[in-house]
Amino acid sequence: MLSAYEGFRGGAPPLRVRAANDRGVNSGGSFVLYWMIANRRARYNFSLNRATAWARELGRPLVVLEALRVDYPYASERLHRFVIDGMADNQRAFADGPVLYYPYVEPYVGAGRGLLERLSADASVIVTDDYPCFFLPQAVRAAADRVAVRLEVVDSNGLLPLAAVPQAYPAAVHHRRFMQGALRSHLSDWPSPAPDLSSLPGRLKALPLDVTTRWPAATQELLSGSPVALEALPIDHVVRPVGMRGGSRSAEVALGAFVNERLSSYDQRHNHPDDRGTSRLSPYLHFGHIAAHHVFDAVMKHEQWTVGRLGGRPSGAREGWWGVSNPAEAFLDQLVVWRELGFSTCAKRPHDYDRFEGLPEWAQQTLLRHADDPRPFVYDRAAFEAGATHDPLWNAAQREMVRDGWMHNYMRMLWGKKILEWSASPVEALDTMTALMNRWSLDGRDPNSYAGYMWVLGRYDRPWPERPIYGTVRSMSSESAMRKIRVARYLAESRHSGLFDR
Ligand SMILES: Cc1cc2nc3c(=O)[nH]c(=O)nc-3n(C[C@H](O)[C@H](O)[C@H](O)COP(=O)(O)OP(=O)(O)OC[C@H]3O[C@@H](n4cnc5c(N)ncnc54)[C@H](O)[C@@H]3O)c2cc1C
Repeated sequence: MLSAYEGFRGGAPPLRVRAANDRGVNSGGSFVLYWMIANRRARYNFSLNRATAWARELGRPLVVLEALRVDYPYASERLHRFVIDGMADNQRAFADGPVLYYPYVEPYVGAGRGLLERLSADASVIVTDDYPCFFLPQAVRAAADRVAVRLEVVDSNGLLPLAAVPQAYPAAVHHRRFMQGALRSHLSDWPSPAPDLSSLPGRLKALPLDVTTRWPAATQELLSGSPVALEALPIDHVVRPVGMRGGSRSAEVALGAFVNERLSSYDQRHNHPDDRGTSRLSPYLHFGHIAAHHVFDAVMKHEQWTVGRLGGRPSGAREGWWGVSNPAEAFLDQLVVWRELGFSTCAKRPHDYDRFEGLPEWAQQTLLRHADDPRPFVYDRAAFEAGATHDPLWNAAQREMVRDGWMHNYMRMLWGKKILEWSASPVEALDTMTALMNRWSLDGRDPNSYAGYMWVLGRYDRPWPERPIYGTVRSMSSESAMRKIRVARYLAESRHSGLFDR
């Protein structure tokens, strides 16, 4: 073991790299290992850049292990199908080059145990992805203790490195102001759109036989989307795959379609479910099939933008700072400000980003003061899940999520507010939102999921005039939503979807 590599700075900005353990680099190892757990892609990926830099530095081949467990919370046919589509794309992306790509899908609970440790015995160094929520931080901590060599965690989440953000800002305006002051200096640190793999040491011929025997790679049947292969896995079979294909190739097609066809009207249409004016990139962003950097590049190329157009004094104002068209400004505020606010909240508040106790004091107090207010309707989780409330618009949103694995942003806000209003308590409402969206939505279990659930209960917001049940937390109503947004087609589709018809 050598400590000579402690200061190695290749591949990714130092602010984005941290050591998860104090083991050394084994310069006698047979390969460098990239354990791909969140940035499930071959492009715009700082972890991959870092791993390739290590491979060059040490003169060792690069192995990419993309693994999928069967016992993580909410594992289902829907989520598995999407991730496995991505594995098939990654297999193609690495097929002809020097990188040995190893897709592993656990066939039964616990089957994958020991794989990373076994590989670490032959590895020089391991690089993995930094992801600030769900079970991943805990999984990385546990792995750090078990592996034999240095484990590095690399942050490729957003345009600002998480380590550069000083705090979990209480509202978007504060995060935006900080971002406007800080972003310029990070724009020159960009993950490679297409990493140059040609100069890497030659491809490792094969992993050791004991590895491939005990932990065989995912079969071509599974990777090609066979429903039979999915049915054999011990996962939730009620949550079925949806029409949206996962993977980087589909993500790039979706990005191109959005930028060319819908970006120019985003500011006018993104709030109207009937208009389908948003990017629908959130499932791809969630599983790391596409990078925020990549989306940013495509939008800015379309806008013929240069850094010189960025505004000056950071004011926190929502429009005008980027120096692009109004629709692009509106889109970037979601992609960069709101998205990264959610990520930094999870990173800075690991113990309560998803808990009632993590809400601002005023929100906790007002919700608790109104916890015993009579509710006009009270539904349990099963009624919510079945989309069986008295409110057709609410039911349409729930059905959209069950049917398509996705829900429109305006409808998510209304959906959450009504769960708060129609649940026995605010804590129960938080549990219900988490259980339903994490289970049915492809993009659930994301920092933005928790940002959304907690926004419903007052996080990132300010007190509003006091009302029953909500207290001073902002309320929403279906009646006023129907006046403000276009939902005729949305409601009609829901009626014809045949899901949970009563
Ligand atoms: C109650 C509630 C729950 C939510 N749950 C999730 C979730 O599980 N997963 C998830 O990714 N987002 C969630 N959001 C945020 C937002 O609704 C979705 O990100 C957005 O609807 C995704 O659609 P899109 O990709 O077409 O977005 P676009 O409008 O095209 O925006 C582009 C990207 O910007 C980001 N973004 C957009 N709106 C927001 C927002 N309000 N907050 C944070 N980031 C945003 C997303 O990464 C999105 O993909 C939730 C919001 C609420 C109110």
